[in-house]
Amino acid sequence: MTTKSRLLLIVTFMLLGLSAATIINVSLNFRDYSIKSAVEKSQMVANIVKDGITAHMVNGIMDKRAYYLNQISSSNDVEFLRLVRGENVIKQYGKGFEHESLRDAIDEEVLKTGNSVEKITETAKSTKLRVSIPYKATEDNTIASCLNCHNVQKGEVLGVISMEFDIGDMRSSGVMTIAKILGINLLFIVVALLLINHFVTPYMNLFSNLQSGIKKAYSGDFTHEFTSKVGGDAKNVVEQINSLFRKMQETFGDIKYNLATFIPQGCVSSTDPLHEAKTIINELSDIYKFKKTIELDASKSDVYTRIIDILKLKYHVGHFALYEVNNVSSERKLIHSTEEKNICFEKTNKDALLCRAYRTNSVTISTEFPNLCQACILSDINYVCIPFPINHDISLVLSMTSNQRDEVELMKKNISSIKHYLEAAKPVIESQILMEKLRDTSLRDGMTGLYNRRFLEEVIDKIMSQATRKKDTYAVLMLDVDFFKMVNDTYGHDVGDRVIVALAKVLKSSIRESDLAIRYGGEEFVVMLHNANDEGMMSIATKIHSEFAKLAFDVGNGEPLRKTISIGIAKFPTDGDTIWKCIKYADTALYEAKETGRNKIVEFRAEMHKSGDEF
Ligand code: GH3
Ligand code: MG
Ligand code: MG
Repeated sequence: MTTKSRLLLIVTFMLLGLSAATIINVSLNFRDYSIKSAVEKSQMVANIVKDGITAHMVNGIMDKRAYYLNQISSSNDVEFLRLVRGENVIKQYGKGFEHESLRDAIDEEVLKTGNSVEKITETAKSTKLRVSIPYKATEDNTIASCLNCHNVQKGEVLGVISMEFDIGDMRSSGVMTIAKILGINLLFIVVALLLINHFVTPYMNLFSNLQSGIKKAYSGDFTHEFTSKVGGDAKNVVEQINSLFRKMQETFGDIKYNLATFIPQGCVSSTDPLHEAKTIINELSDIYKFKKTIELDASKSDVYTRIIDILKLKYHVGHFALYEVNNVSSERKLIHSTEEKNICFEKTNKDALLCRAYRTNSVTISTEFPNLCQACILSDINYVCIPFPINHDISLVLSMTSNQRDEVELMKKNISSIKHYLEAAKPVIESQILMEKLRDTSLRDGMTGLYNRRFLEEVIDKIMSQATRKKDTYAVLMLDVDFFKMVNDTYGHDVGDRVIVALAKVLKSSIRESDLAIRYGGEEFVVMLHNANDEGMMSIATKIHSEFAKLAFDVGNGEPLRKTISIGIAKFPTDGDTIWKCIKYADTALYEAKETGRNKIVEFRAEMHKSGDEF
């Protein structure tokens, strides 16, 4: 039901109630008044009868009283009028006329009690008022004193004057009056309703117009134009709302457009664009803070740690693994996993193309198709795998797992949001990769590909503190080509370079992954053998020494060039308590090798240490 109908109904009920109350009140008052005036009339008639009868008695014409009573009753709308004699009057004067004897219980009651009785008898056709009044003996000094003629006591009831009136006319005129009031009231109600309808309708129209405009605005449409036929304040309000809506439309349109450029539409599912905008702005603010933080991170692994924290703390992902894939070699490296066991087959790390998400570069969700990814070991676990290319060389793959269906649904819901974080991290990771490359080139020797002296300077402290903590040992080998200057001088620098590159190759192929080979300068190299015992140390030194000696360099004159090297060795921490000291001692041993004929391996001994060579 509309507000207007409700208002009209309420007003109708109120006016009808008021009319009913008025009519009931008027009817009751009218009835009381009718009865009261009929009773007063009857008393007046009774007094006239009393006085008339007394006059008849005084004049001695009591026998003519019937005519008198008839006259009175016919001239006063009296249905009947009769006199009823009391017991003492009957005793003194006899029963009188036929109709003057006791007729009914009312007469009897009045004779007995001396009190008047009024009784209304209503039927469908008529309304009658019966009044019976006692005729009491009075005493005064006039000729009309009752006691002059009657042998009775003063105040004794002589008889009853009974009469009946037809008051039906009063009832019908009452009904007529009520009908008129009802008619006037109904007319008033109709006029009132028409007036209310006339004045309220424009406001109601404005109200429903406002409602539909606000409804549209709630879904982000501020194009509604409000109209009203009402003037004055209402008109001002309409104009103000219209201008507010126009402003909102312009501003909101801009906001929506701008937000869409940051985050594609549909990422936040909501039927309320204002709420959607708020969510997107919050998301943007979080991502902005995240980006600002990772921009200050020192390394790529710090950035990865930050992403892992976001997954755990913001998205509450309980089980996941983050991989870095080398796009060129298709090798996959685990960055972080919450699980002890990998959910992918081991071979996936060697060939990342086995990972469906990586190969198709699309999000892979196990709930969409059974056994979707062939790289997954487990069939009873659900996974959501997000591939994310960082640049030409590197991609990330985030593999989230769960055996709870609702957790998977939450992961699916968060995919685009997680991608926003990865998107924000992408340029930072890219620049970290670039920095790593730069650092790598500045720490490596361009000609041989081995680490350079700068690298040694940068990492030596780290290596040493780790070695001390873990009680690791290092054998430090210092190598130098014998009579190298002669190669340059005789065959030129190119041949010299080839010799240096060849020695570097021998070093690379002779050491393990945990060992380090460094081009220390010119044709001098440092090799650090990790946790090698004396025997192992000597066998590697010998291997390097002999492998290099076997090399024959074509110098273009038919006779191949062969070269030898000298090696000095010092052990950390046996010979020196710092790596730098050991490098120095290895150099001392090398010097001894050179001094004592070259092409040999010499281990450092304490007596080689000249006083004053302190570090
Ligand atoms: P020794 O047996 O005492 O070591 O005699 P040596 O002639 O080898 O003397 P030394 O080790 O001092 O010679 C180093 C020479 O290496 C000097 C320099 O011209 C040459 N050299 C240094 N770096 C390079 C390089 O990158 N390429 C070439 N071709 N020569 C280099
Ligand atoms: Mg040399
Ligand atoms: Mg040298």
